[in-house]
Amino acid sequence: MTDPRPDQIRAYYHTLFSTWGRQHWWPAHSRFEVVAGAYLTQNTSWTNVELALRSLRAAKLLSVAGIRRTPVRKLEKLIRSAGYFRQKARRLKTFVRFLDERHGGSLTRMFAQPTEKLRRELLALNGIGPETADSILLYGGNHPIFVVDAYTRRVLERHHMIAPGASYEEIRELFELALSPLAGEGGDSQPAPAAAATISRPRGSSHSPSRMSTAERTARVQVFNEMHGLLVGVGKNFCQKSQMRCELCPLQKYLPEES
Ligand code: SF4
Repeated sequence: MTDPRPDQIRAYYHTLFSTWGRQHWWPAHSRFEVVAGAYLTQNTSWTNVELALRSLRAAKLLSVAGIRRTPVRKLEKLIRSAGYFRQKARRLKTFVRFLDERHGGSLTRMFAQPTEKLRRELLALNGIGPETADSILLYGGNHPIFVVDAYTRRVLERHHMIAPGASYEEIRELFELALSPLAGEGGDSQPAPAAAATISRPRGSSHSPSRMSTAERTARVQVFNEMHGLLVGVGKNFCQKSQMRCELCPLQKYLPEES
């Protein structure tokens, strides 16, 4: 294994972004939809999440108020397609209770907390691990925090950039250190990705533009947002758990020779 260098991560970003353009993560119409999606996507595919979100939307319950007033049994039925529906229904209820008790039921007030403070609060909730907390923070609240998922870990491990079993926090810090200069922090001369993001090709793991994906945000948040989406594209299309399609993958040129 080699020590991961921030410039390697930046090179991956530029290669993927210039190949696929903006990914339009997270596909959602509202901040609460991001929160709900972050819970629902645990241990299931996004296709199943979309079905559950559609049911909630059709019932006009895809909101803080909607979840608050819906009995848990009804909620379970509506989100059944997302799997683990009993657990997820209770977790959504827990989130709304937390929002009511700590932040007066206001997502605006909740997201106005300093990143680390809010992250600690979210991580203390039942059913929220680092990936879910950081998805909510980054995509729902535009907090500058990188989301590490299984795809990210897989690519880095296969490229010998992290040791097997590297911690979530270690990987998150690596990406935040590497990508922050792309937003003009730290003196890197790379162009700000928000400015470069005019190329829009439906590739990678891209979604159609949505209200949340096109919302105004800082360049740093934008680059964290894009990199996560781009790595999902690599994982879904080329770097699968049981199969690697390196010959077609945009990151092939970075693959260590001994792999
Ligand atoms: S598919 Fe191959 S080249 Fe692409 S990220 Fe995975 S290991 Fe690297």
